[in-house]
Amino acid sequence: MVNFALREEVAVITLANPPVNALTVEVHQGIQAAIRSAGADPHVRAVVLVGAGATFCGGVDLREIQQIVAGERPRSCLLPLALLREIEDFAKPVVAAIHGTALGGGLELAMSAHYRVCSPSARMGQPEVKIGLIPGAGGTQRLPRLVGVGKAVEMCAFGEPISAQEALSLGLVDRIVAGGLLEEAVAFAREAIGKPAPRTRERDEKLRGAHPERLDAARERARGTRRGQLAPLAAIDAVEAATTHSFEDGCMRETELFDGCLRSTQSKAMIHAFFAERAVSKVPDVPPETRAFDIQRVAIVGAGTMGGGIAMTFANAGIPTILKDASQEALNRGMASIARSYAGSVKKGALPRATMDERLALITPRLSYAGFEEADLIVEAVFENMGVKRGVFAEIDGIAKPSCVLASNTSTLDIDRMASATKRPEAVVGLHFFSPANVMRLLEIIRGRATSREVIATSMALARRLGKIGVVARNCLGFIGSRMMEPYWREAEFLVEEGASVEEVNQALVEFGMAMGPLAMADLVGLDIAWRIRQVFREVASPGVRCPRVIDLLYKMGRFGQKTGRGWSGYDAARKPSVDPETTALIEQAAREAGIERRRISAREIVDRCVYGLVNEGARLLEEGIALRPSDIDVVYLTGFGFPVWRGGPMFYAGTVGLPQVLSRIEEFQARHGPGLWTPAPLLRRLAEAGNTFM
Ligand code: NAD
Repeated sequence: MVNFALREEVAVITLANPPVNALTVEVHQGIQAAIRSAGADPHVRAVVLVGAGATFCGGVDLREIQQIVAGERPRSCLLPLALLREIEDFAKPVVAAIHGTALGGGLELAMSAHYRVCSPSARMGQPEVKIGLIPGAGGTQRLPRLVGVGKAVEMCAFGEPISAQEALSLGLVDRIVAGGLLEEAVAFAREAIGKPAPRTRERDEKLRGAHPERLDAARERARGTRRGQLAPLAAIDAVEAATTHSFEDGCMRETELFDGCLRSTQSKAMIHAFFAERAVSKVPDVPPETRAFDIQRVAIVGAGTMGGGIAMTFANAGIPTILKDASQEALNRGMASIARSYAGSVKKGALPRATMDERLALITPRLSYAGFEEADLIVEAVFENMGVKRGVFAEIDGIAKPSCVLASNTSTLDIDRMASATKRPEAVVGLHFFSPANVMRLLEIIRGRATSREVIATSMALARRLGKIGVVARNCLGFIGSRMMEPYWREAEFLVEEGASVEEVNQALVEFGMAMGPLAMADLVGLDIAWRIRQVFREVASPGVRCPRVIDLLYKMGRFGQKTGRGWSGYDAARKPSVDPETTALIEQAAREAGIERRRISAREIVDRCVYGLVNEGARLLEEGIALRPSDIDVVYLTGFGFPVWRGGPMFYAGTVGLPQVLSRIEEFQARHGPGLWTPAPLLRRLAEAGNTFM
């Protein structure tokens, strides 16, 4: 795992733990043994530390971290501070030679060396916050000494790696070497022989003049962009300690803060989310070798909100796309909105103008099906109406080539019924993009009864190519996303009827960590769309079961949310929400008419009813085999619905609360609101009674 070789008077210590030279206990021991051999050998006058294969060192293996976080492995498995100290105190110069990446513990190891050289494409960072942790082997103390407090705070609190060029200009590396990394590093080491070796921990010139306002600004940013997360704030506190404490005391403070993060459920949740995203690509009967069709040309029917966003998604991936609508007016509107969206990115400096032009040129507006016969994939994005959709499927079936994949972007409707409008149900699949389609990472892939494995493999490969997370779900009303949204929205609406204000409902869920409150989300998506989804579920609801009323009234009044300036809330021209007294009056009237006695409702009840609504429905989806695994449901809610990553997703979250507690709360709601709404899912009951979680 660690090799030792001599190049005349320079010892070369090579980390060799493929694929990313992860730091394990064996690797720590190997490094220590190699350093000691280099120390004991009088011929050795300098040391180069390098990684074998494609990278220097990716840090600690996440599976090991997961076991440490779960208490299944001792904390002593982590990179020991003492080893880094031994390297730093080594009497002969030590040069870290970095290629690929030096991340997390990998960068901490490199910073304990006296010098760092790197290849031009190398990247370096402290990404621990992305799994709810902070650097724990002196990274928060050595990094500010090398790059300054402001940059160290940014790297440790937000986790983005930096390039070789930036590392050089900041002083994190001493030289970028263009030729052979090892040869150049050995040459560098020879130059350093006999010179005093700089110890990072003693280099405190960059700590002087640290501006406290930069720390405050970072805290502000962390509270805004990493709302609810402990690790970014802990990372800032740890870097701050470098400015107020000695190196040793700073390391102790770092350890304390690291341990706090390690003990929190947040790191467990974020590690779960990390592995959950990787697990979605495993579909048991669609092994990786399943043939996938090559998608070179795409055609879309419907140039509305979704069709336009989907066309941009394909154009962004360099795929030529035809965009068809039924009327010139709709087509013009669609193309104008695409052009506006790209122009907005150009204006913000996020997209070069030439790239915008290239992408626009890839989208061909059409009123006819001309060119559809060449498409490898046709995506239907017309109105959410089965009759209209079946009509479109029958038409494209007559035109598409035999190998073409026929997809629907429906958010709720039965894929099998659409498939039955064609003579090739095996080619039909749901590709449920989320709005805005060119931004949202989630792609729900709906597998109909007849959908072939090749079409599923093609859809999964397509998701990857588009930079999306493809989650496969079986066909049912609403699939995973919309079906779970139904009880979530329903409870939010019931809560306002029962006495909570729109703002209280939104606020409670924002404080829970959701990107936005449920009613704010309905206003953003459009109450016309939310209402239509409600109708689909209403058709299958048992008779006599309570149904929210206010949304019907808002819908009838044409109050569709942000797009009409009024919905659950009022909106100004900048789409800033405000309390709308008319909504309040409507709610009170609806409650009166339904004989609902209004009362004060706690934030806890709001959160429990909305979130346990998700959990109970998620349990049903698992039992019915709609979702392959609980973690897939979590991924859907994390990537498509703004569920807080530090809670791990609804199914993971339920486990952190304890399923018996979740079940007993659902039983309370059932007693109060009736069995039609809150019947506990049998799977939830079984797991709770057996003392298990969903995972
Ligand atoms: P939209 O009303 O904005 O657009 C629909 C477009 O389809 C219109 O431009 C219309 O002219 C066109 N159209 C209708 N019938 C047609 C036909 N026969 N041939 C060609 N064009 C036709 O609707 P949308 O919001 O883009 O939704 C489209 C689909 O995407 C729906 O199935 C919807 O459920 C789904 N969806 C919507 C969202 C969302 O947030 N808007 C999210 C996910 C999925």
